[in-house]
Amino acid sequence: MFGPPGSGKGTQARRLSQWLGVSTIATGDLLRAEAAAGTELGRELALLLASGQFASDEHVNRIVQARMARISGDGVILDGYPRTVNQARFLEQLLSERGLGTPYILHLDVPAEVIVERLSTRRHCASCGLVYNLLVHLPKVAGICDGCGAGLSVRHDDESVVIRRRLQDYCDQTGPVLAHYTSNCFTIDGNRQPDEVFRMAQDILDPNKTRRNGLH
Ligand SMILES: [Zn+2]
Repeated sequence: MFGPPGSGKGTQARRLSQWLGVSTIATGDLLRAEAAAGTELGRELALLLASGQFASDEHVNRIVQARMARISGDGVILDGYPRTVNQARFLEQLLSERGLGTPYILHLDVPAEVIVERLSTRRHCASCGLVYNLLVHLPKVAGICDGCGAGLSVRHDDESVVIRRRLQDYCDQTGPVLAHYTSNCFTIDGNRQPDEVFRMAQDILDPNKTRRNGLH
């Protein structure tokens, strides 16, 4: 699953994994878990992440490989992987070792302006962690958390300047990876209701349909 921050990619990945009965590997969660676990690799990662650097291809590949070895079933949803062409090549090797075919690439496309609006209207309670949205999920009293009564604020990551920079980073990083995939690559209009996006993704991944079309 490909999609910029704020595209709803994580939500769709979870729904699709339930529907298909397969695991999701969300690389961001794995990296954070590994860093928190304090393994040798985890300690290296924690140092990198604390200094604001990205984890190297080698680190990410090792973690995905280890997680992949533990999945059951005949498929997996990857969220946040591959992020580079090197990772994509490594993934091809992993998939062929497991006897899995060419991956389906689902790209959730959402215009930058929509993402900025979605994310910059988020408000966050630093005290209990609840997240609000001024467009779709307002607190009962303006500026005050329903859960604990603390004041709401904008998270650094949700400031529009930061969002635009994250979007640019995402495009720079993902463009070459998307270009690497020439078959089974689908772009979905992510600027729609979540249910509609889910139905479009189901339509593409429908196991009966893909077998019938000989794409599986
Ligand atoms: Zn709160």
